[in-house]
Amino acid sequence: MRITFHGAARTVTGSLHELQVDGQRILLDCGLYQGRRAEAERINRNFAFPPDEVDAVLLSHAHIDHSGNLPQLVKQGFRGPIYSSSATADLCDWMLRDSAYLQEKDAEFINKRKRRRRALVDGDENNAVEPLYSMADAEATIPLFRPVEMHRPTELSPRLRFETYEAGHILGSNAIHLVFSENGKRTSLVFSGDIGRPDLPIIRDPEALPPADYLIVESTYGGRLHKSMDLVKGKLADIINRTAQQGGKVIVPSFAVGRTQQLVLLLHELTNEKRIPDLHVFVDSPLAVNATEVFRQHTDLYDAATRSFLMEGEDPFGFQRLRYVREASESKAINDLRYPHIVISASGMCEAGRILHHLRNGVGDPRNTVLIVGFMAEHTLGRKLLNGEREVNIFGEPVVVRATVEKLNEMSGHADQNELLAWMKPILPGLKKVFLVHGEPVQMEALKARIEGEHGLDVVIPQRGDTHILA
Ligand SMILES: [Zn+2]
Repeated sequence: MRITFHGAARTVTGSLHELQVDGQRILLDCGLYQGRRAEAERINRNFAFPPDEVDAVLLSHAHIDHSGNLPQLVKQGFRGPIYSSSATADLCDWMLRDSAYLQEKDAEFINKRKRRRRALVDGDENNAVEPLYSMADAEATIPLFRPVEMHRPTELSPRLRFETYEAGHILGSNAIHLVFSENGKRTSLVFSGDIGRPDLPIIRDPEALPPADYLIVESTYGGRLHKSMDLVKGKLADIINRTAQQGGKVIVPSFAVGRTQQLVLLLHELTNEKRIPDLHVFVDSPLAVNATEVFRQHTDLYDAATRSFLMEGEDPFGFQRLRYVREASESKAINDLRYPHIVISASGMCEAGRILHHLRNGVGDPRNTVLIVGFMAEHTLGRKLLNGEREVNIFGEPVVVRATVEKLNEMSGHADQNELLAWMKPILPGLKKVFLVHGEPVQMEALKARIEGEHGLDVVIPQRGDTHILA
């Protein structure tokens, strides 16, 4: 078995690993690389292997940095099955089309600008920027999904099978345990995907996996310790109360899938408990609205607390003051509201989407709060706000930041250092090597030191393109 790391190598984005085993070429994830424009373009358009020779994709979860380059793979000739949970397949149905829409819009925007600067003239379409992939590519990807049930082995060949486990990161997220048997010898590999934290709202906790020979594990917060989830609600209530007293609004950039639904549930509970004033809450993202419908369909994946909330006749994703916004006109109208409210909008790292309008309208007002609830990759607008930059560019124009920027790391869908080590524990017996992916170098080094120190294991931090033989 050979593994090559093509993405999420010393970075958190573009998860993509290639397994060559038993005459097959299998991908673990096929995520979109997000970062500086030119670099992202180059990486996302060029696979280091022939896409038409890929036999199958095993997809850990629906987040775009894990699934978002699948349409590109299909555009370049992939026709094999994409194995995932059924919730992941349902979420990807929306997310990949949303991503294609954004790609098309983006290309249109650049071409328009080129035309304005006369860098592109009519009849000279060779010079036009093409979207990374189109809606047609996304739509050709959806039928390739093959939903698999957790804990039920799926055969990729008579000698190769895999089984999936709850990863507790977003709805439908899985960790994958793969076994190759050859001449009476077994080689096994675990791919973590993204690992969540215990007690996250809605979804169940990450589950224990059987031991394996090799482990590929994410390390987003490999060097960090989160505060307990118990504190989150109190902190969230404080931020909302303070902002409301100032007469401001709370602007929350949030991933449309996962974080938004968790936040809605917490706000619902806080409202029921009368710990926050009765404010209007807007979920302003068509994708979040659609993803919420998928959440409603997969009640079997809820944790005990959310199930009992449901049993009490409560709608986890709806309450009186909450509005889901689909129409652009309604979205614009939110900007004119003169009373305190909460707006949750995407994209999560503030790189695109309606959140940009809310930020442009809101960051200049000291009464407002920008609440960061998720991981912000380097060079993104979200990261700049988090870093406290006093002036940021939005839609190409400088805007002075006067709003308070707060963060709720505890809401993170990623396990911290202790939680990652606890998750690894059942896999450890017999483990030969650990590969750290999906993290920035400082986080990876910290996790590596701890795993080496406590378990004496060989820990590798692969570079993009590195290949290792697993035997
Ligand atoms: Zn994720």
